[in-house]
Amino acid sequence: MSKPGIPTIKFTKLFINNEFVDATSGKTFEVINPATGTVLAHVSEGDKADVNKAVAAASKAFSRNSPWRSMTAFERSQLMQKFADLVWEHRDYLAALESADNGKTYANAQGDIFASVATFRYYAGWCDKIKGTTINDDPKYVTYTQKEPIGVVGQIIPWNYPFLMLAWKWGPALATGCTIILKPAEQTPLSALFAASLIKEAGFPPGVINVIPGYGPTAGAAISEHPDIRKVAFTGSTEIGHIIMEAAAKTNLKRVSLELGGKSPLVIFDDCDVKKAAQIAHNAIFDNHGQSCCAGSRTFVQSGIYDEFVQHAKKLASQIKVGDPFDPTTQQGPQIDQDMLDKVIGLINSGKQEGAVVETGGERLGTKGYFVKPTVFSQVQDNMRIAKEEIFGPVQSILKFKTMDEVIDRANSTNYGLAAGIITQDIDKALLFAKSVEAGSVWINCYDAITPARPFGGFKNSGVGRELGEEGLKEYLEVKTIAIKVGI
Ligand code: NAP
Ligand code: MG
Repeated sequence: MSKPGIPTIKFTKLFINNEFVDATSGKTFEVINPATGTVLAHVSEGDKADVNKAVAAASKAFSRNSPWRSMTAFERSQLMQKFADLVWEHRDYLAALESADNGKTYANAQGDIFASVATFRYYAGWCDKIKGTTINDDPKYVTYTQKEPIGVVGQIIPWNYPFLMLAWKWGPALATGCTIILKPAEQTPLSALFAASLIKEAGFPPGVINVIPGYGPTAGAAISEHPDIRKVAFTGSTEIGHIIMEAAAKTNLKRVSLELGGKSPLVIFDDCDVKKAAQIAHNAIFDNHGQSCCAGSRTFVQSGIYDEFVQHAKKLASQIKVGDPFDPTTQQGPQIDQDMLDKVIGLINSGKQEGAVVETGGERLGTKGYFVKPTVFSQVQDNMRIAKEEIFGPVQSILKFKTMDEVIDRANSTNYGLAAGIITQDIDKALLFAKSVEAGSVWINCYDAITPARPFGGFKNSGVGRELGEEGLKEYLEVKTIAIKVGI
């Protein structure tokens, strides 16, 4: 295989009704390579007029006797498997596209594509396993429930895992038989457009999947406000999550699922192997350059091992090789864009001003691209901004605690509730923490233990609903109750 590098970009137009088309306005926008700050491609900029066209196509694809609605569950499953086969066939190209567009390392992008294929295949297996129940509450009736696809769904995704978030959205929506309008993030539309070409090649009927790149306040808002879209699934910031829910409430009460931010605690007790714990905590925050909704962004360490732990954490972070995402020795690429670079540096500066100690890093790296030095803060206090706000960058905040009761209260004293972790040899401590922490996923002696079969989502302001697993299917289904009176 030739050495991976920036690939030829084949698809830059909107995908509506199985065709690549220009935006109605004729506008395009620049897609930037975050490693260099240079333009990778010009992509068609969809807005309300294009969302309307896509909704018309998706509504037709969902109409009563359409090819999509007439398929058996097995046939739908075969189409999904065929699509997964094509993604797998093109995995190297897709990984290169993702790496160029997002700045994540090529190896990490390969991991994302692998996890995406696993997600498509997992949900392909669900197509013919969706079922209702019979209810024997009255001898004069035969009553049953039937699960039906919600219909046309809008999906708005972020830039941190562009292709994987597409997989989390398309998997359950296709398995249940919905039709889709997807808006990728303005920063990272390229892998979704290539995926659209594979949807056509796999043989999906026109209109089942439509992809509209564009901006949030225009294309995104047109989706969340559209009267014929029956559900919107969103992943991104809590701030925009509020806007999406409000738009749904003000229009047609479309179903809403939200996967939002976090400030997830990872709690490390002094009975553990400190070196191993430091490695788990390091990966929990530095994976994907800290740009992960469930990042372990509050590292709580028990006082007996605090100083030793900080030394390990500092060593690990200072050894990260930052640079060109296509260099096989690189472990951390750039942040996604100038805005995020400014946000991360702003929060790092606030940590310094509020009295946290910079153990390593603490500034921008270079002047080209959006690179940040991996940063470790010790002596972090709960009231500092770096302990409260989602930084979404390679910044570890290490806090000290003494007792279980104290750390449970401090772990929970946030409006977020996406994930949490605990590292300890004591099963009682682990289970007490797992029971008490307010989070959608709890990882014991590990972190980020996510698979397609395990539900994922947030308590409190971290979201509404769940993705993945059987729970993820429910977000795309309506329940119909059918009662038949017998012997009349
Ligand atoms: P964001 O604005 O929430 O973007 C997520 C998606 O929502 C993008 O596709 C975005 O479009 C779209 N959007 C924006 N405004 C919208 C609106 N009014 N109506 C409908 N859709 C809209 O996230 P961001 O600005 O990229 O990042 C800001 C912060 O969000 C980060 O610092 C991080 O804390 C958090 N974040 C969380 C996740 C996560 O996985 N939970 C992912 C990314 C970011 P555009 O492309 O135009 O923005
Ligand atoms: Mg935004």
